[in-house]
Amino acid sequence: MGPMSETALVLFSGGQDSTVCLAWALERYPRVETVGFDYGQRHAVELQARQTVRAKFATAFPPWAKRLGEDHMLDLKGFGQVAQSALTAERAIEMTDKGLPSTFVPGRNLAFLVYAAALADRRGLQALVGGMCETDFSGYPDCRRDTIEAMQTALNLGMAQDFTVETPLMQLTKAQTWAMAKALGGATLVEIVRTDTHTCYRGERGELHAWGHGCGTCPACELRAQGWEAWVADGRPSLAA
Ligand code: ZN
Repeated sequence: MGPMSETALVLFSGGQDSTVCLAWALERYPRVETVGFDYGQRHAVELQARQTVRAKFATAFPPWAKRLGEDHMLDLKGFGQVAQSALTAERAIEMTDKGLPSTFVPGRNLAFLVYAAALADRRGLQALVGGMCETDFSGYPDCRRDTIEAMQTALNLGMAQDFTVETPLMQLTKAQTWAMAKALGGATLVEIVRTDTHTCYRGERGELHAWGHGCGTCPACELRAQGWEAWVADGRPSLAA
């Protein structure tokens, strides 16, 4: 780790994890920009959630409003065409014969980091912040700490840069992610995460459950609901971010 960065680019999808990452970054860095990726998701609702969350942060947290800079949307539809998965095509959500969920998009997080780094280079931003997490989910191989560390090395070698790739949720359970939200922004942030972020793989807003909107039965909704219930059962603790 070099000296503390002053600027950050948050990979921001409008989901629960990247929303907490954005709050985490706004607490730490004087200047924060966001980047989202349109890779042909079936669900435009995700992209709408990004704008809602940014707007609510700006009104609910004046110190963050001063730090929150530009939003960028990058078109990765070409990548979506190469890497088909249940998120980008009409395909059932299931386990594949490799033992990976069909929602896994091979290379997606790697591509996101390359594009984010190229944007950060242009914008003069030093830290790349992402919600990758190796504890709860999936076994998505591109969310593992080893993968992220290798990408940081590759990006810095290949771009003659000194980026840090920060993944504040890497070792957290989904219950602990709620606890981090509470520590960062209290009940106000918890409520924004609960009601305005979008995680459901099926792109359903549906009714507002205790844990947020979503179909309630896809793997992402199940994980989110379990995390919420574990956090509530634990007495809604705060977790230092
Ligand atoms: Zn769902």
